[in-house]
Amino acid sequence: MPLVAEVPAAQPLMPVEQALERLLTLAEAAPISDTECVALAHAEGRVLACDLVASLDLPPWPNSAMDGYALRLADLQGEPLPVSQRIFAGHAPAPLQAGTCARIFTGAPMPAGADCVEMQENTQTLEDGRVRFLQALAPAQNVRPQGQETCKGEQVLAKGTRLGPIELGLAASLGHEQLQVVRRVRVAVLSTGDELVEPGLPLGPGQIYNSNRRLLVSWLQRLGCEVKDMGILPDDLARTRACLAGLGDVDLILSTGGVSVGEADYLGAALREAGELALWKLAIKPGKPLTFGHYRGVPVIGLPGNPASTLVTFGLLTRPYLLRRQGVCDVTPLRFDVAAGFQWTKAGTRREYLRGRIEGGQVHIYKNQSSGVLRSAAWADGLVEVREGTTPKPGDSVSFIPLSELLG
Ligand code: AMP
Ligand code: MG
Repeated sequence: MPLVAEVPAAQPLMPVEQALERLLTLAEAAPISDTECVALAHAEGRVLACDLVASLDLPPWPNSAMDGYALRLADLQGEPLPVSQRIFAGHAPAPLQAGTCARIFTGAPMPAGADCVEMQENTQTLEDGRVRFLQALAPAQNVRPQGQETCKGEQVLAKGTRLGPIELGLAASLGHEQLQVVRRVRVAVLSTGDELVEPGLPLGPGQIYNSNRRLLVSWLQRLGCEVKDMGILPDDLARTRACLAGLGDVDLILSTGGVSVGEADYLGAALREAGELALWKLAIKPGKPLTFGHYRGVPVIGLPGNPASTLVTFGLLTRPYLLRRQGVCDVTPLRFDVAAGFQWTKAGTRREYLRGRIEGGQVHIYKNQSSGVLRSAAWADGLVEVREGTTPKPGDSVSFIPLSELLG
């Protein structure tokens, strides 16, 4: 028996920025305070719980930027210099003997007394082994000074930084084996809908495969979340109540489907019984209806079920919310302007996020922008923002948010 949701009185659509602002300023968006220590090898995608401060100078000693010869500039009086030692990377040199040069390789420590390096291409080795320098040299030439990258005590990464390959490489360069990170945000994922069937099973009449579950679980994992995958929740109040009651310790309940006004809304009904619920009508397309509420103190975000709507509302609203809960300061995705390679004739009252692809310096849009067509996003490499009331034509500047940015 479908349960008919109350149809709220017509309300103005909430602009996307306002919805995001609301989500991010909620008490429930406050960063999680629990932290844990993880090995660098397992820290990818996690968020630093405290500033990373250099415990040493980088590089720890002056070293050569070239394969060549280290020398003291004052020793260069026009005569070739004999080679007094060979210095390889990873080996300690002896002090430079006066009136000589040292063969040196990239990354090898400078010998005490040497003040510059000449690259081997600008030298000539004579038959007697001495080296002639063919060009004028400057002090400190081709020498990487101690601490040129970082000095001991300097902050190299701020608390709230997401750890990707570059940050991990930097932490490794400073000798860190472990990092203090924010504990993972635990997210329960519920796919609501009687029509849903898991891939691998036969489809019955009127049924479709559950795509949102896989989309969200995999995306959440990329965002460093711990996922409690609850599978499919049928359109049934008792089952919905039981599912919510059995969720255990989670930081967010994320559902898809069943949030359209006037539809069977079992999740909403169950939330109203044991929590609270607000139905937001957003000025966003795809993805107008979004539920925000609480269940026994745990925040609930209900995304619309159409896969492209799920994608857009998760990427633009839920992702920043989850990053903020992990303590990430800047949760705004990178965007840039690009010339439209398409014509948009219908000025909308909602901000549209078209699935587009950049080719030849212009962004083109997928032929079918229906909210049910996930293939549009697989074809695309970003979301083209078409602002309310605008009708971009070819050559006009439009804002573009790369999917790689949202997905990571
Ligand atoms: P709803 O938000 O429940 O009204 O669903 C809107 C549309 O999204 C309907 O066509 C649903 O069949 C579809 N839908 C809902 N959940 C999913 C899902 N997990 N995977 C694929 N399609 C879905
Ligand atoms: Mg449904």
